[in-house]
Amino acid sequence: MNTRPRHPNKEIENAVRYAENEGWGYRATGHSSHAWGRLLCPLRQQDGCLMSIWSTPRVPINHARQIQRKVDQCYH
Ligand SMILES: [Zn+2]
Repeated sequence: MNTRPRHPNKEIENAVRYAENEGWGYRATGHSSHAWGRLLCPLRQQDGCLMSIWSTPRVPINHARQIQRKVDQCYH
């Protein structure tokens, strides 16, 4: 497993852990300062699911739910 930074927001950190339990992996974005990173679905491919995680979304709980929904929708 690659190491990832903890997300500063608790709800989003929980959503990220949920994704990791489903086999998703963290990738740093690097070029974007607004994004905390990306989550790649278990397929880990260009045509797989990709979720950009913001570092400071306006409504963190909504973003956390968005992450969970994306994980639940993934069929890979
Ligand atoms: Zn997927």
